[in-house]
Amino acid sequence: MELDVIREIDAEVAELIESELKRQQTTIELIASENFTSRAVMAACGSVLTNKYAEGKPYKRFYNGCENVDKIEEIAQMRAKKLFNADHANVQPHSGAQANMAVFLYAVKPGDTVMGMDLSNGGHLSHGSPVNFSGLYFDIVSYGINDNGEIDYDNVREIALQHKPKLIIAGASNYSRIIDFKRFKEIADEVGAYLMADIAHIAALVATGEHPSPFPYADFVTTTTHKTLRGPRGGIIMCKEEHALGIDKAVFPGIQGGPLEHIIAGKAVALKEALSDDFKKYAHQVVLNAKALAQSLMDEGLDIVGNGTDNHLMTLDLRKVGKTGKDVANILELVGITANKNTVPNDPQSPFVTSGVRLGSPAATTRGFKEDDMKEVGKIIAEAVKISDTKDEDKIKELKERSLKLCQKYPLYKD
Ligand SMILES: *Cc1c(COP(=O)(O)O)cnc(C)c1O
Repeated sequence: MELDVIREIDAEVAELIESELKRQQTTIELIASENFTSRAVMAACGSVLTNKYAEGKPYKRFYNGCENVDKIEEIAQMRAKKLFNADHANVQPHSGAQANMAVFLYAVKPGDTVMGMDLSNGGHLSHGSPVNFSGLYFDIVSYGINDNGEIDYDNVREIALQHKPKLIIAGASNYSRIIDFKRFKEIADEVGAYLMADIAHIAALVATGEHPSPFPYADFVTTTTHKTLRGPRGGIIMCKEEHALGIDKAVFPGIQGGPLEHIIAGKAVALKEALSDDFKKYAHQVVLNAKALAQSLMDEGLDIVGNGTDNHLMTLDLRKVGKTGKDVANILELVGITANKNTVPNDPQSPFVTSGVRLGSPAATTRGFKEDDMKEVGKIIAEAVKISDTKDEDKIKELKERSLKLCQKYPLYKD
């Protein structure tokens, strides 16, 4: 770590970064949207590339001196196209939300009807939440999930036929089943809508064949690069060739200024890693680990929405045991496990309290956790749920030691 360099200038910030490193090393990370990127990716992001302005596209910039960043951005584009088998890739979006915003800017006009998954059912803010630009500037119709935690495609079709959206979004932040992109495409075609697949969460699974690809079907595919894909924080838009020029314009000058070439270099490095056989094994293990965790929790008598998972995440349903997502997420933090509260289908609690906790395997899998370790994690969680009201000090201590033992078995960013 470059901590000493920071410490010379700013001891206060250096100390906080150091304690964040320690937190990551000594707690089990189950937030489904987080991961541990490689040192190579971090080094690229912390490089001299942060100094360069490069508005425009590779070899067509508004600034001089871009000969190196042109090549780096071109490499990132080529690797994204190769990894996902895409026609065109724009690697400039600063985040997943920016990627989605650019697609909106290109594909629809303010006031047009857009259909996405409801936020409290697992959708993302940028899919039409009333507090997001998407909900503020567009006429949003939403679909949800049924009690089994599955998308009801007949219902999606009905809503689409009734409201005739111009853009349909398939993709979620909390959905544990395989998304049927073909079915979404059929519905989109029937009503004459564009289809955007937002694979922010499942990108690594799509890239490695663990989840069916949206590419034969979607007009636009957006993703983050920092979730399962394990790169730097950022976004990518991929699309069919016919939309390439329009999407590029929507990103710049549409919604962004200069691209973050240091982050784009980090994306290039992460995409190289993602093209490796090791990454294929990683993505497979992510799914095995999520299934093992879900099974362990169910074996302990807890409910999982939909009774299992097909991907990297699941939602613990606490209604039967009479606990809230807020209390359980808080007790988990005390025992050394980080996760976030989340609504369950037809949640009786408010979004600030909730009856669920979302759990994901990508970060723990990066550390090296295998199925047996996830089984132990499930047991720790089940015991923690029991003491979420009493906050029994001895029990907290015991569970925290068990979490720490797992972390020490798989050291992170050592030396
Ligand atoms: C995380 C996420 C995003 C947004 O990513 P940011 O980089 O946080 O802006 C967009 N869509 C989905 C489905 C996500 O899960």
